[in-house]
Amino acid sequence: MQTLETSVKVNRIPVSRISEVDFSNLEFGKYMADHMTVVDYENGAWGNPEIIPYGDLLLSPATMALHYGQTIFEGMKAFRMKDGNINVFRLKKHHERIQRTLDRMCMPSIPEDLFYQCIQSVIEVDKKWVPSGDGEALYIRPLVFATEARIKVKISEQYKFLVMNSPVGAYLSKPFRLKVEDFYARTAEGGTGFAKCAGNYGGAYYPTKIANEQGYDQVLWTDSKEHKYIDEVGMMNVMFVINGVLVTPKLNTAILDGVTRDSILTLIKEMGVPVEERKISVHEIEEAFKKGTITEAFGTGTAAVVSPIELINISRIDYKLALPNANSLQLKAKKRLNDMRLGLAEDVYGWNYVIKV
Ligand SMILES: *Cc1c(COP(=O)(O)O)cnc(C)c1O
Repeated sequence: MQTLETSVKVNRIPVSRISEVDFSNLEFGKYMADHMTVVDYENGAWGNPEIIPYGDLLLSPATMALHYGQTIFEGMKAFRMKDGNINVFRLKKHHERIQRTLDRMCMPSIPEDLFYQCIQSVIEVDKKWVPSGDGEALYIRPLVFATEARIKVKISEQYKFLVMNSPVGAYLSKPFRLKVEDFYARTAEGGTGFAKCAGNYGGAYYPTKIANEQGYDQVLWTDSKEHKYIDEVGMMNVMFVINGVLVTPKLNTAILDGVTRDSILTLIKEMGVPVEERKISVHEIEEAFKKGTITEAFGTGTAAVVSPIELINISRIDYKLALPNANSLQLKAKKRLNDMRLGLAEDVYGWNYVIKV
């Protein structure tokens, strides 16, 4: 993918905070890089982006995003490649998704070149913050929210677009224990589940808290009408290997169109493994456990990349899965994905947005 030439006004931090970072223990989202990009939207247009020191914002208590929820975000990663350059992985696909999210929330479009410019320029300024260790990356968090100060339910006429970045380590979580949700809903068909809007997450906390109290890590969401079909995990998409076939729920308006999901499906097809995107009933998963035909289940997402699932609770019964081994599809696909992102394998799909440093 062609990388742009950018020139954005920079207000540099006097002294970098990078020495305060414990790079041997990069807890997810704990450290923020020195700078952020800021752009304001008013009078029907985006202004010029600026790079400023990462820090607090001054907001009116009547800021509409806080009252009525026009707040959306993205999440992607930049990797230090083997030649030292920086790769923003699948930037184009993330732009396409933020566009769909913005449309759904009646928020103004962000043109592709503005989006690329805001991300690339701050990474160039904070290039030292892109770590190079195994599984490490700079997590990029674009955020857009309504800034008009008015207590009236209406579409805001002013917005702020920010890009902030956080160095992150390999996501070291133990394999997931999931509970199939049969009462609560994260979203519904026709709702905002396919959009990365803030409200989807706050509403998921309560059912997740209940699942945590029962000993499960996350909820495996099902359709809100009948709780009969699997949707996703709420920060990860979900995939199963049944009878040697990779099966994953077909996208609908209640499922987030994960970029990692798309990458892993592409790479698994490349290995010659049959892939089915279709409706998957909870009953089918239950039967596959009873017959022993399910060999793998895993989640996919930018933060955790590919995460094994070791247990699924269905109607109060725990079904267990063996941990992945060297022959598991999930580990083979994860390795291939990593090799492409780091420039150890050829970028055959044009997924890399390389910033030369
Ligand atoms: C971000 C997200 C995912 C994973 O998407 P990626 O693009 O792979 O990071 C899955 N589900 C939900 C609800 C999400 O917000």
